[in-house]
Amino acid sequence: MDPRPAMKSVAIIGAGITGLTAAFYLKRMGVPVTVYEAGGCAGGVIRSLRKDGFLAEFGPNTILETSPKIAQLIRDAGLKSHRLNSDPKAEARYVVRNRRPIAMPSSQLGIFTSELLSTKAKFALLREPFVPRRRDGKEESIAEFVVRRLNQEFLDQMIDALVAGIYAGDPHKLSVQHAFPRLAELETRYGSLIKGQIFGARERKKRGEISKDRAPKFSFDDGLQVLPDALAAQLGDSLKLNTAVTKLTQIEGGWRVTCLEGRVPRVPNSNSEIKDSQSSSLRQFEAEHGAVIYCGTAYKLAELVLIGTPSIARQGMTETQAERCSALRTFSEIRYPPVASVVLGFRREDITHSCEGYGMLIPKIEGFKILGTIFSSALFPNRAPAGRVLLTSYIGGERYPELALLPPEKLVELVCEDLRVLLGVKEPPVFQHCVLYPKAIPQYNVGYGKFKNLLSEIESQTHGLFFAGSYRDGVSLGDSIVSGCNIAEKVQEYLKTAN
Ligand SMILES: Cc1cc2nc3c(=O)[nH]c(=O)nc-3n(C[C@H](O)[C@H](O)[C@H](O)COP(=O)(O)OP(=O)(O)OC[C@H]3O[C@@H](n4cnc5c(N)ncnc54)[C@H](O)[C@@H]3O)c2cc1C
Repeated sequence: MDPRPAMKSVAIIGAGITGLTAAFYLKRMGVPVTVYEAGGCAGGVIRSLRKDGFLAEFGPNTILETSPKIAQLIRDAGLKSHRLNSDPKAEARYVVRNRRPIAMPSSQLGIFTSELLSTKAKFALLREPFVPRRRDGKEESIAEFVVRRLNQEFLDQMIDALVAGIYAGDPHKLSVQHAFPRLAELETRYGSLIKGQIFGARERKKRGEISKDRAPKFSFDDGLQVLPDALAAQLGDSLKLNTAVTKLTQIEGGWRVTCLEGRVPRVPNSNSEIKDSQSSSLRQFEAEHGAVIYCGTAYKLAELVLIGTPSIARQGMTETQAERCSALRTFSEIRYPPVASVVLGFRREDITHSCEGYGMLIPKIEGFKILGTIFSSALFPNRAPAGRVLLTSYIGGERYPELALLPPEKLVELVCEDLRVLLGVKEPPVFQHCVLYPKAIPQYNVGYGKFKNLLSEIESQTHGLFFAGSYRDGVSLGDSIVSGCNIAEKVQEYLKTAN
């Protein structure tokens, strides 16, 4: 049996931002696509709600423009006039120390005069360029890496807060190599983070690239959901909502995709992953495609049944069909801790802090429940009515997973208690909305290379099956957009080998 693609159409599993981006570009290249999405709407974890004059984001708040491909997608999708850059006055980021939010210095030298670190930690910074690089190749956690190159205080005060803000993760588990590849690379290439910052910045400038801390941040006039909505609209009938792919079978010249279609109501307090127990009137159907791109989550990939034909074995695959299926089950080991997003609106006069800036991050040693708070109404205009302030706080993650699962009224109470101490919130909120992401963000923990290698192995040995998304190519929205663009190009190349 010839495994080369006989059909030009592509099945894309998952209508998060990765799947939508891949579908958008493949369609523009003239490739017919069908996007299968288990949930009732497009966008994955992206969710914006306009209510009572507030515009709340439950999942991501901003896109960091770290690659030219991101701005290109916005232009190509016709959304340039809807794009909103963050307010330049809202650059200040706070980190809590001694129960007070302290502004992070705006320049690298500013750290030496900042109250954020003790004199001892500042000396550790001066010493860092002389710390020898690790040469034994051992994979470290970000905690081990930071303590080795800097010191414990740096970890507890700065990195722990940062890790909570990006991954809602545990610095003792996250791999520096996989979760913070740039830091690992700075050590490998320059022997020091500080030297790497200086020389790396010069090289990036030459290449026209922007680092994450300097990249423009943006959203849209009606919130981030504008982007998936626009991409979904261009797909028309090719987007199949409430349709979960359950099985992939390799056939002559392509893949048979088995789907369960059913009206799955969007579950309050949950993300868009399908809840089979709540589904009603499910219908099974099959469709055939030349190639498949999996843009879902790792834990749903683990549930997928993958059936290869005997010809796969002749293509050099060593595993039996049963082993292949159990290989996918490995992906259930990737941790996705729960995160609750608590969006609260207050009267301006009921908050002592100016709340001007991006937001605040809270290290675990400070003993608060929330991981961090975004000053949403300072970041973008029209997020709150005049005289009101909108704050988005996150709770749970690897730090306190059990807290994310509390009922909404309890979450609001906990967040208000922390905001009272940290920002001087004096009265109850005038607007509130909580959303639980039961499985929020994939954790690139030590040993993650095993999963990435397995994906590459399956991709290289199984004709026409591709993987993209936040479980593989980085957890930010920007990473997912770039992942979607790249996989579209790769699949187009693959289809050129069609009979
Ligand atoms: C609370 C929170 C806050 C965040 N904040 C930010 C931020 O401010 N900035 C930032 O850059 N990033 C942020 N992120 C990360 C960013 O939002 C994600 O990394 C990105 O949206 C992931 O997109 P994706 O398309 O890869 O996956 P997802 O959005 O998870 O989409 C995957 C889709 O696949 C579907 N699916 C899975 N399996 C199947 C199947 N078998 N059949 C059919 N459909 C299937 C799912 O239903 C889902 O819709 C945040 C994430 C969370 C959870």
